[in-house]
Amino acid sequence: MIRELLKALGPQGARPVRRMLIQLVISAALQAGTFLALLPVLSGLLDGHAPLGSWLVLAGVALAWIGWTIVVQMRSFTVGADSALVLHERIDTALEGLPRGWFRRGRAGEVSQLVGTTALAAMNIPAHFLRPLINAVVTPLLLVAGLLVLDPWVGLAMLLASPVLLLVLWVTDRSVSRADGGRHQIMDHIAERILEFVRAQPVLRAFGHRGREQDRLDGVLAEQQLADRRLIAGSVPGVVMYDLMSRLLYVLAVAVAAYRLSDGALDAAGLVAVVVIGMRMAEAVSTAAGLTAGMRMTRRGLEGVNALLDVEPQRWATNPRTPEHHDVALNSVTFSHGDAPVLHDVDLRLSERGFTAVVGPSGSGKSTLAGLVPRFFDVDSGSVEIGGVDVREMGRYDLAERVAMVMQQVYLVDGTVRDNITLGRPDADEAEIARALRLARLDELVAGLEHGLDTQVGARGDRFSGGEKQRIALARALITRAPIIVLDEVTSSLDATNDQVISATLRAIAQESNLLVIAHRLAGVREADQIVVLDHGRIVEAGRHDELMTAGGVYRGMWEAQERSEGWTLR
Ligand code: ADP
Ligand code: MG
Repeated sequence: MIRELLKALGPQGARPVRRMLIQLVISAALQAGTFLALLPVLSGLLDGHAPLGSWLVLAGVALAWIGWTIVVQMRSFTVGADSALVLHERIDTALEGLPRGWFRRGRAGEVSQLVGTTALAAMNIPAHFLRPLINAVVTPLLLVAGLLVLDPWVGLAMLLASPVLLLVLWVTDRSVSRADGGRHQIMDHIAERILEFVRAQPVLRAFGHRGREQDRLDGVLAEQQLADRRLIAGSVPGVVMYDLMSRLLYVLAVAVAAYRLSDGALDAAGLVAVVVIGMRMAEAVSTAAGLTAGMRMTRRGLEGVNALLDVEPQRWATNPRTPEHHDVALNSVTFSHGDAPVLHDVDLRLSERGFTAVVGPSGSGKSTLAGLVPRFFDVDSGSVEIGGVDVREMGRYDLAERVAMVMQQVYLVDGTVRDNITLGRPDADEAEIARALRLARLDELVAGLEHGLDTQVGARGDRFSGGEKQRIALARALITRAPIIVLDEVTSSLDATNDQVISATLRAIAQESNLLVIAHRLAGVREADQIVVLDHGRIVEAGRHDELMTAGGVYRGMWEAQERSEGWTLR
């Protein structure tokens, strides 16, 4: 746990925690010293009188222990708060460096959980866990050393017994962490399910039944209960065993001491010393055992943070190159999402004033391909070039300015419609806004709003339909006049109008930009300069509409299927 914390904090942030560790070791040593200083006093008292010197030593060490511990304990809260801050900053920086494609569905829950729970965890470690932990290790060690001096037999008995204690602790820890691992995954799952459940409410209620989401939520909650039981079943025997063992050791020490007393090898003061010291040791050790569950959870959280911090940040060129023109080329591009290969050896040229459409079944890799151009992801092999310059050699903001993308999933920011449209070009004038509205088929919608462009979209733009939100995002992209425009399944949201209108819009955009359109409905892109058919991450056909129809391959099949199904619905 400590190692995970130090790693998550980084070399700079870990320094105060390291210092704190040393201070705690000193505090534990002072504690052991206090108990050992008790021995001369005890033996003096049993002999009739304790010399003043022994009292003074005891008082001095005890005062030093108490004073030092108070200072360290107070400092531990500051260190905890600082650590939490450092962790937040580091998570923040890491998030900034992550490729945009990392932020897919489900990440929101993950990140918020990380930030929320780990900050608490980071504060807890220095403030609540470290002191008992170090006391449990350092104090008994020193006390055993003291016992060895007092009576070698008693000390030896304790020394030989401690490996047993460690073994019990280790076995417990293994079984608990296995159970806890399963539980942790389920907790992530639950967070996700609850979000889904809430999001799905409007749909579920509209259809008037509990729906799948509720069943799934019930399912994971039941799973959690099971995992909790497993965790308890896995940890309780160990914790109880451990507690029992530490007490048995205590009894053992006292028994050996009593035996030595009857032998005359140890005096009464020695026996009392063993009783007192042994009690303190057993106590320190079992306190630590009680903390193990909390520490394990904390460690899990920190592992999550470290996993996030370990994600390779996207590197941006220090000496960026600027493209001279805006032809786009994908050269033998291969890409996997983790271990799942998505694109294989894709070669594609998009010309500066061209209109390219990518079509294909869902899951064939269309969105992924589109995301490679603005560097949502980086290729595994091959390259993506703009005007002959590898996108990895371009500047971050330069690339963002040159490529405007409208994604399938649109997020509106809180504010007015105007704020949302001019997000990328706050200085756009009314004429430019009007043009973007017209091209995105938003003019009628906006005219119908109570405050027109200055209408608040509300939290996440809930007052608009999915298609309307997507058209707002389209206007947002168009107003930037980016030389490269990528539209992921936007045509479906323009369907509300008709194929001719869609084609006119796309043609207008293509006249001034390099247009890449991902399309599910084929009618809207029939006029594209080139249509690329993607299947299982490979380009299986490419050409103009008539060429592909004549070829009679996959594209023709798709086209006929779509005509048929739409014919059905129309009639
Ligand atoms: P399409 O847009 O053609 O429907 P996608 O490019 O969205 O296809 O997805 C291609 C494949 O990659 C699918 O199997 C999908 O599950 C997977 N995939 C897409 N995005 C991610 C992601 N961020 N992480 C992991 N897998 C992904
Ligand atoms: Mg897609």
